[in-house]
Amino acid sequence: MRHISIILLASLVLLGNLLTGCGDSPGPSSPTTITSSFESGSIGKTVKTSNAVWELTIADDNNNATLPASWRSWWYVRMDNAITDSPTTFTLKNSGWLYYYLPIYSYDQKTWHRFDESEVTRNEGGELVVRKQFAQPTVWIARFYPYTFTDLELYLRRIAGNPFLEIQIPEYSQNGRPLYLLKLTDPNSPVAAKKRVFIHARTHPAETPPSFLLEGLINSLLSGSSDAATLLATTEFYIFPMHNVDGVIAGTYRSTPQSENLEVMWYLDTTDPLNLRADAPHEVKVIQQYAKRLMTDSGPPVVVALNLHASNSEPDIRTFFFPHFGALEQGYSATQAALWNSQLRFIDLLATRYGDDLLEPPPADGGAGFANNPFPETWWWTNFQDQVMAMTIEMTYGRAGFAPRWITPDDTRQLGSALLLAIGDYNNGSVPAVKTARKTADGVPGRQLLYPAWYPPNAADELKY
Ligand SMILES: [Zn+2]
Repeated sequence: MRHISIILLASLVLLGNLLTGCGDSPGPSSPTTITSSFESGSIGKTVKTSNAVWELTIADDNNNATLPASWRSWWYVRMDNAITDSPTTFTLKNSGWLYYYLPIYSYDQKTWHRFDESEVTRNEGGELVVRKQFAQPTVWIARFYPYTFTDLELYLRRIAGNPFLEIQIPEYSQNGRPLYLLKLTDPNSPVAAKKRVFIHARTHPAETPPSFLLEGLINSLLSGSSDAATLLATTEFYIFPMHNVDGVIAGTYRSTPQSENLEVMWYLDTTDPLNLRADAPHEVKVIQQYAKRLMTDSGPPVVVALNLHASNSEPDIRTFFFPHFGALEQGYSATQAALWNSQLRFIDLLATRYGDDLLEPPPADGGAGFANNPFPETWWWTNFQDQVMAMTIEMTYGRAGFAPRWITPDDTRQLGSALLLAIGDYNNGSVPAVKTARKTADGVPGRQLLYPAWYPPNAADELKY
């Protein structure tokens, strides 16, 4: 009996190891694998030399090879049966952006870590090479901190029921997902005394920093502070937190699953530019029609419209803006200069609240080119001129003013808190305490770039196209 028991025990241990794949190091029965088959996941071809050596090719959105190379940036994978007793190396191929950055990783999709600068190098082809010994066999790895549709719904569940918040679903996406709209105001304060603020985010699905910003902004607004009470009593906030929800779920970088770049498809109807042409994508029409209603109903008009993005840039580029036009003395009209001055006042108010050294200086001249392109700001400008301070804000993914460390989601939530206060300052006519330096034609004096040889100071940041 005793003899049989020992054999039985040994067999059970062996069976257990086979079933769970545990053991000191994976054997041939548990090869390392990489997948992106989960929400917001994305990768193209993967080539495995051994369990420890991989090549990962960044995918085109929807595997559509006709899309521009600059649209290839986002990737998000899960590695299973990763080896834990020696380093794994993977090379990221095919990126549309040849600059240095630190990806992030997590063992549970909740707590995320940046790779260390000692673990991330570039090869002679400019490709990122990551080498790290992982502590656990399952690891999620991504270009930047993910923020999925599920994350948004979990967040909404946490704040739902607050008396100052109304969660609406004005429409559904092309794939039938809710396009949430958050209205935040004090319903007991008179509407006539309020100003309206309109914000939308995640038009480009993989640009996740705006979602962290919105959490910071909304948390501050619902914090019960006296600043929040004043803002809620005097403002109606309308926020579309996830414009391109289908792309977020699919794991695309810039487009919908139909390869539409919603940022540049605000096709104005030339006979009545308050409306869009029939061929504008559904999600664009939903936002435009909501904004149109806010501008034409009996309530107060929108005075601030913010369009939230994040830009692939050299690691030390900080949050920046796309203000339009310029000063009277630069040859702009009085109305154009009025919009320009409003935008610069807003930027300076944000610099006062967040930190002048955490924002890029605005350009010396914003230009008028946007007015000929189908951006959201073009719709606002064409219909309402300087009455609406409509502007794009671009967050960045790198050190972003926090050098030597790299930016975190909490830093971006802080930006959201500061942005909220700056909106209040702007709406009550405050004069900024900080006057931010303006960029000159020669660039930004004194800027220290981490890798200037790899990303020259005058190289373009990612633009809205
Ligand atoms: Zn963008």
